[in-house]
Amino acid sequence: TDPFSTEVKPRILLMGLRRSGKSSIQKVVFHKMSPNETLFLESTNKICREDVSSSSFVNFQIWDFPGQIDFFDSSFDYEMIFRGTGALIFVIDSQDDYMEALTRLQLTVTSAYKLNPDINFEVFIHKVDGLSDDHKIETQRDIHQKANDDLVDAGLEKLHLSFYLTSIYDHSIFEAFSKVVQKLIPQLPTLENLLNIFISNSGIEKVFLFDVVSKIYIATDSSPVDMQTYELCCDMIDVVIDISCIYGLEGAEIPYDKESLAIIKLNNTTVMYLKEVTKFLALVCFVREESFERKGLIDYNFHCFRKAIQEVFEVRLKVLPSRKQIQKI
Ligand code: GDP
Repeated sequence: TDPFSTEVKPRILLMGLRRSGKSSIQKVVFHKMSPNETLFLESTNKICREDVSSSSFVNFQIWDFPGQIDFFDSSFDYEMIFRGTGALIFVIDSQDDYMEALTRLQLTVTSAYKLNPDINFEVFIHKVDGLSDDHKIETQRDIHQKANDDLVDAGLEKLHLSFYLTSIYDHSIFEAFSKVVQKLIPQLPTLENLLNIFISNSGIEKVFLFDVVSKIYIATDSSPVDMQTYELCCDMIDVVIDISCIYGLEGAEIPYDKESLAIIKLNNTTVMYLKEVTKFLALVCFVREESFERKGLIDYNFHCFRKAIQEVFEVRLKVLPSRKQIQKI
C-alpha cells in the first residue's frame, strides 16, 4: 500500500473570507509565484483541493474554501473533512474591517472543534505589510482579545488559537507556515535532537532543515531563530535552485539531487553551507570560517546525520498515529 496514502498525510485547511488572500498564500508558498502577480489572481468560488505531495516533503493538502461557507449545507460533508484535518489556518485581512471575519472565525472554529478537538487552530493576521509597526501590534492585540472573548462567551476556553502576523511581501508567510507544519510532524523532537547533536559535534552555529520546494523549514536546532538568518537561507535556496534550473540537468522535476550542495562565504566571517539530505530536504548550516576549515569533520558528521534521518523517515512510513496520539500513549 502507498505509505503516503491520504490518511497518513496531515491535512491543512486554509479558510477565510473571500479576498482575504488564501489563493495568494498558496501560490506564493508552493508555486513560487511572485507577490505582485497575485494581484491578477481570479477570486475563488469553489472548494478546490490542492495536493502538493508530489514535489514537496510536506505531505498535506490545502482546501481553499470560498469565503462564505454554509455549515448547514448538507451537500458538503464537514464532518468527514474536519476529522481528517491536522491544522486549520484561518486568514484574516488586517487591512480590511475584520469584524465579519471574526464572526466567521468563531463559527468555523467552534464547528470544527466539536467534530475534531485535536485540530490545531492557526490564525493568520494577513496583509500586515500595509500597517505601521504600532498598528500591527494594536491589530494583533485587538483580534486576539476579541477572538478569545468570543470563545469564552461560547464556553470554549479550552480551544486554543495561535496567531501569526503574515504578508506575502516578506518572509513572514514562510515563517508562519513553517511553524504550522512543524506542529504536524510527529518526529520533530527526534529531528531537533539529531540537529543539536550534529551541530555541537561539528562546530556549527545554526542549522535548518528545509523543504526545498516550499522553503518551509521543518526543523532547526534549539538555539533561537532570527528572521534575518532564515531569510538568508531562503535566498540561498532560491539561488541554488534558480541556477540549477538554468544550467542544470534538463527533465528533472526540480533540479535537485544527491550531488546538490552550495557554499557561500558571507562578509562577516560566516560560511553558509547547503547540502542535500533527502529527495525533498536540504540542510542549511551557518559555520564560522575557522570551523569550516575542518570541513572533513562536518562532512563526516553530516553523513551520520543523513543516515539517522533516513531511518527516522523510514519509521515514519510505518508509524501511523499522529503526534497527539503518540503523546497520549
Ligand atoms: P482569496 O479570495 O482569499 O483567495 O484572496 P486572493 O488570494 O485572491 O487575494 C485577494 C487580494 O489580496 C489580491 O489582490 C492579492 O494580491 C492581495 N493580497 C494577498 N496577500 C496579500 C498580502 O500579504 N499583502 C497585500 N498587501 N495584499 C495581499
